[in-house]
Parts: sequence; structure tokens; C-alpha cells
Amino acid sequence: MSSNIFHPLLPLENTYRTLPEKMYSPAMPVPVSSPVMLCFNSRLASDLGVDIAGRSEQELADLFSGRIIPEGAQPIAQAYAGHQFGHFTMLGDGRAILLGEQVGPDGSRFDIQLKGAGQTAYSRRGDGRATLPAMLREYIISESMHHLGIPTSRSLAVVKTGEKVYRERIHDGAVLTRIAASHIRVGTFEYVRNYLPIEDLQAFTSYVIDRHYPEVRDAVNPAFALLQAVMHRQVELIVQWMRVGFIHGVMNTDNMSIAGETIDYGPCAFMNTYKPGTVFSSIDEQGRYAFANQPVIAQWNLSVLAGALLPLLATEEEEAIRMAEDLLNEFPGRYRDRWLQMMCAKIGIVQYRQEDRALVDALLQWMQDRKADYTNTFLLLESEDGPVTDLLQDADFAGWHAKWMQRLAEEEGGSLSARALMQTVNPAYIPRNHLVEEALAAATLGDMAPFDALLKVLSAPYEHRHDYPDYQRSPERFDAMYQTFCGT
Ligand code: AMP
Ligand code: MG
Repeated sequence: MSSNIFHPLLPLENTYRTLPEKMYSPAMPVPVSSPVMLCFNSRLASDLGVDIAGRSEQELADLFSGRIIPEGAQPIAQAYAGHQFGHFTMLGDGRAILLGEQVGPDGSRFDIQLKGAGQTAYSRRGDGRATLPAMLREYIISESMHHLGIPTSRSLAVVKTGEKVYRERIHDGAVLTRIAASHIRVGTFEYVRNYLPIEDLQAFTSYVIDRHYPEVRDAVNPAFALLQAVMHRQVELIVQWMRVGFIHGVMNTDNMSIAGETIDYGPCAFMNTYKPGTVFSSIDEQGRYAFANQPVIAQWNLSVLAGALLPLLATEEEEAIRMAEDLLNEFPGRYRDRWLQMMCAKIGIVQYRQEDRALVDALLQWMQDRKADYTNTFLLLESEDGPVTDLLQDADFAGWHAKWMQRLAEEEGGSLSARALMQTVNPAYIPRNHLVEEALAAATLGDMAPFDALLKVLSAPYEHRHDYPDYQRSPERFDAMYQTFCGT
């Protein structure tokens, strides 16, 4: 087996290593046989201040597959636990290795992590590897989320390893370079609370506050203020998912970022036909992580975070529980309000009122009854005539449309500014399931052209162009049979 090469390619820090030792294990990426760069996000590299000037593609493939290790880097695998489908388990980075932290030109700090880089202390029976289609899938969906304006981990590179990975069948292996504000999860707090002493929980909480929520550092009760701030960011995140029809698919507590970013793209997928109970994940038989259940689960996950933070909230446990419960009880109201504001924006209402809920609900009900496409319905509403005129033949729609027009007339800017608002919140392009699958199938055969073309369209989702109609439709019944899988 070949060994790692150390090279001063990329100076990285690793503040995570200042934390108690039990929070991580040193881990070296296992070099792969013949790394080839498949896609590289040079725009992201330059935004992050990752200097690649003068580097050959081979050097980059070696670096972003873990064969070359930046000199001075001290890669680790992070320890964490989590509730998976409601059950507590010990986990940890079983196939992801944190190369280190990059500090960008604006001073912000990012994790650079190699996913699929080989076994670690937390691999259990896993091979530490990842398949090419799964890593390309994460690349395209996470980048699409970013361009949709939704907080997310990013994808810097996918390198084909030249090695085979065995799942149900043989696949090409790949390593994804993932960029995130951090990979600290609700499950990381669960790990510390369950397995480490209280001083470590205190130290870790201070670290998280300094890194992600410095504004609560001087709060009277920093742990409580942290919980509240995490809750607020989660509300915003889930509202954004609901805006574009994103279904995460496996919102276990270990897949929920403390920084409020979308992370761990596994069985996620976008909903095309509007149906609140939509589930694509093959293992989610009960619909725990269905589209409409996402806010409920986010609140549940936050209650797990609150449980881990209890000893820091108050000295008396009873008091701590009461504080946490009071805070968590604010979740549904806050979510409903933020969701209503977002949905009102989707139909062009700026000055939303609580009564608008009926108008929004009626539209959603109509979409559900007609099995309408979620994304395209809002685009139709935006269009001045043409398609909307056709829809008006539908009496139910016409009735709703009349009420909507009446409501818009009460807005200051009328329908002109309504349309302008709608165009900023209603995407024209989302990663439709059949398009993603077609792109991955071609990539598996060595043809990256469909992947690159799709990525280009998804990089400007609010540009309402007329020359991409094929990217706006879903084949009938494709989604009804569509299934997604975890951790491939
Ligand atoms: P995920 O479903 O990707 O969130 O992963 C759940 C847990 O399984 C995490 O601790 C992963 O690190 C671990 N895991 C997933 N796939 C593998 C693999 N091929 N080898 C080792 N660990 C894995
Ligand atoms: Mg995970």
C-alpha cells in the first residue's frame, strides 16, 4: 500500500484539536490507487482562498483524494452520537476525515473534509469508502441548494479513486471534498453529554459559541442563549427547505448541523408533485422524515439538543427542564409565522397577515387535489397570461385566482411588485429526480456532459429562461416509483 505524501500545498488550521481528546481520533486518509479529478469547483476554491494557482490537475486530484496531505495538517475523524429514527447510537466519522480548517479571505473558518477517504476509529464494519454516483449526487444537490440561497455544506471536488466499492453491486469509488462552517452536529452534543464529564460539555459549548454564535458569548445564560439561537437558525433553514420542496430524507440528530446548514446529503430529493406526505427514502417506511413532517422533526431534534445541554441551563434540573420546555414550545408558533411569510412571498404578498393563511392553504389544497407540480405552479402564477389563462378554465382555480387578485390589489405595489417578489423566491430550476439520475447514469459510463449541463442550469435557478424547458418538467409517474438510499 502506498503512503501519504506531505506537501505544503494548503496551509490548514485545526482548532478542533484543542478540544478534549475523546472528541476525535487522529485519522489519515488511506491513499487511493489512481485518483482522477472529475469535477472541481474553482469558483468555490477562490471564494475560500484555497490557492491552486500553478497546481496541476493531478496534484489537485492527489490532494483532494487524501494521497497528498497538506504539510502541518493534523487530520482527524470526529466523534459523535445521535438518534437515528428515534434510537440513540454511538456514531462518529466512519468514512469522513477532517483535513483541517481553512480561514477564508473574510476571516470565516471552514472545515475541509474528505468523504469516502478510508476507515477511521469509528468505521465499525464499514469500508470507509463512498461510491461515485453518491458523491456526484451530493455535489450537485448541495451546490443547487447553495444557488437556491439555502444554507448548506458545499462541494469542492469529486475525485474518482480508481478503486472499486462493493455495495449491492460493484461501483467506482470516489472521494468528495466537503466544505462546511463546521461538522458539529446535535449528535456531537449528545456524545459529549453521554460519554464525557460535565467540564468537557462546558468547554465544548464555549467552543461552539465562539465558533458559530459569538453574539451569545456575553449572554446572562450562554448555554440557554445558544439553544435559542440554534433553534432560530433551524426554523429559518426548514422554512427554506419548504420553499423549494426539499426533502432531507434522514433528519437524524447526527445529520443536523449546529451552525444551521443543510448537511449529510444522503437520501434527499426534491418534491415535484405537491403532496405533503412525500417520502423518497427506501428506509423511511413510517414517513418520519416526509416533506411536511420536517418542522416537527426539527423541533424533536432540538429537544434532544436541549436534553444534552440541561446541566448547563440551570443548577436545578427541574428548573432547566422548565426553561428548555418553555423555549421549545415557542418553536411551532415561530415556525408557522416564518413559514406563512415565506409562502406569502411565493404568491407575491409582502405585507403578510395571519388571515392570508387561508389563501395559502387553499392554493396548496388545490395543488394537492390536482397533483400539480409545486415548483411550476408558482411559475404559472408569475406568468402574466398564457398558461394561467388556461388554468382559469378550472373553476376551483379560477375561484382562488379571483381571491388572490383581490388580495394583491390591497398590496401597495399591486401585481407588478408582486411579480418581482415572486421571481426572487420561486426557482425555475430545481434538481428534478429524473434529471439527476440521468446525469449520474451518464457519469458512471464516463460521460460528464449531462452532469455539467445540469449543474450549469442549477447554478442560476432564478433565471427564468425559455431555452431550458426540458429542465422544468418531470416525467409522469417517475417520482411515484423513485427511491433514494442512505450512505452508499
Ligand atoms: P449517514 O447515513 O451517512 O449519516 O451515516 C451514518 C453513520 O454511518 C456515520 O457514522 C457514518 O460515518 C457511517 N458510515 C456510513 N457509510 C460508511 C462506510 N462506508 N464506512 C464506514 N462508516 C460509514
Ligand atoms: Mg450522517
